[in-house]
Amino acid sequence: MALDKSVDQSRASKRPLAQAGLQSERLLWPAKKGVFEEEVEQMEDALGLTTLEKAVAWAQTKSMWPATFGLACCAIEMMSIVSSRYDIARFGMEKFSSSPRQADLMIVSGRVAHKMAAPLRQVYDQMLEPKWVIAMGACASSGGMFNNYTILQGVDKIVPVDIHVPGCPPRPEALMEGIVRLHEKIMAGVPPAYQIRGAAS
Ligand code: SF4
Repeated sequence: MALDKSVDQSRASKRPLAQAGLQSERLLWPAKKGVFEEEVEQMEDALGLTTLEKAVAWAQTKSMWPATFGLACCAIEMMSIVSSRYDIARFGMEKFSSSPRQADLMIVSGRVAHKMAAPLRQVYDQMLEPKWVIAMGACASSGGMFNNYTILQGVDKIVPVDIHVPGCPPRPEALMEGIVRLHEKIMAGVPPAYQIRGAAS
């Protein structure tokens, strides 16, 4: 039954089921709790309420597999995040996939020489969607100190980047921070960078 128009909406229940859109007058009416209302409250405490989108985003962030792909000194810092000291397995990410078809995160760790641009793009293209890219370090983000004709001045010229991690090299903690920020973007419903870039073009 829909809530009567005369009911003061500000006094309506703030219980999760009411906020989730259950439009029962007995649930929304705050005064004089009956047995039914108490049982509903117990049920709310025992259940977890979510949406399909949030559940999918949660699964994506908790099973994100990076591609095994290292380019220069930053890669040494990247490798250490699987060690017991940093333990990326806490995020369900202990598996660095050797096959791009089983990876959904590319961590570009190091400077990208022009001759590596095509193989890097090929690995990215072979990854299945949805997929994300982290540019790790000054070189991957902007060419860093290598302002010359051999080095790509930013990997975002050839792949859409979701997160830039600053530093030369960024410590493993900084990379972990970038990964956590990426997870937060996904949980907030921000689409991958290739979708944003595609919509803008
Ligand atoms: S950012 Fe620094 S540590 Fe990383 S690849 Fe460039 S020079 Fe090496």
